[in-house]
Amino acid sequence: MNQIRLLAAITLLIYIGTAFADRSLPDITMQPVAVSEHVYVVEGMPGIATDNAGFVSNATFVVTGDGVVVFDTLGSPALAMLLHKAILKTTDQPIRRVYISHYHADHFYGAQIFADMGAKIIAPSGAADYLASDVSRERLHERRVSLSPWVNENTRLVVPDRYLEGEERFTLGDVSFRALDMGSAHSDGDLVLLVETDRVMLSGDIIFEGRIPLLGSNNTDLWLATLNELVDVDVAAIVPGHGHFSTNADELVALTRDYLQFMRRVMGEAVENWIPFDEAYDAVDWSDFIELPAFTEANRSNAYGVYLSIERESLK
Ligand SMILES: [Zn+2]
Repeated sequence: MNQIRLLAAITLLIYIGTAFADRSLPDITMQPVAVSEHVYVVEGMPGIATDNAGFVSNATFVVTGDGVVVFDTLGSPALAMLLHKAILKTTDQPIRRVYISHYHADHFYGAQIFADMGAKIIAPSGAADYLASDVSRERLHERRVSLSPWVNENTRLVVPDRYLEGEERFTLGDVSFRALDMGSAHSDGDLVLLVETDRVMLSGDIIFEGRIPLLGSNNTDLWLATLNELVDVDVAAIVPGHGHFSTNADELVALTRDYLQFMRRVMGEAVENWIPFDEAYDAVDWSDFIELPAFTEANRSNAYGVYLSIERESLK
């Protein structure tokens, strides 16, 4: 009888334990990886925006000796809390500044966690356009459904403390930084942070690793020019917005650059020869890119966006 009671008690305890386990955070292990002396990254998993509780993008943090600088805040406040826990595994220095690479949901929805801690949030100038747009509100509605419960009624679109225009340099502790506003490349506004002391570039989605980039309907001409400029910066490592960081900067830049170049060439020829999009798309030999992840999901809409933007450029 006692044994049965004991068994019942244990079963009940296990049940209570499962029912009341910490459900306020997603079940994800976020292990910081050292990129260089001061720079650490948590790398998101491959997948679409709502896979793995939205943990599909990278966040980086720089431990300076006089506080921490964070670059990107992941796709939900819950993920940002895990990021903060990951930072605490490395240092107990306070978070001073947060630079956001661009205002897309997967990179800035965690910003409120750091803002509430008193960190200063700095965004590229184009983020103001995004915050003023209907797209930003529609995306929040969509994510409250698709990433429920991690994005919910308490999730807010954080207005940055300031917008970066042009570039700025600063030093915190032992580390010198240079932040650059890249204008509209992958999004309404893109920002790159160079950790000059370690020669590490935090590129955001200007550079994609190991998958087809997402072009949207943006200014691919400017983007390409920006990439060509970045190649001239002597860096030891690049941390892209998604995928693995690389110590082979040229190789990492090459995929995005070759893809943009190819896309602009084939779609440019189609526009020039008045070939309708569908016909032009089917005629292109995509074999250099077809094996890359996200080709099926992203390539056609990328091509269409570039086709339309070149059409607009040609009308100017
Ligand atoms: Zn992204």
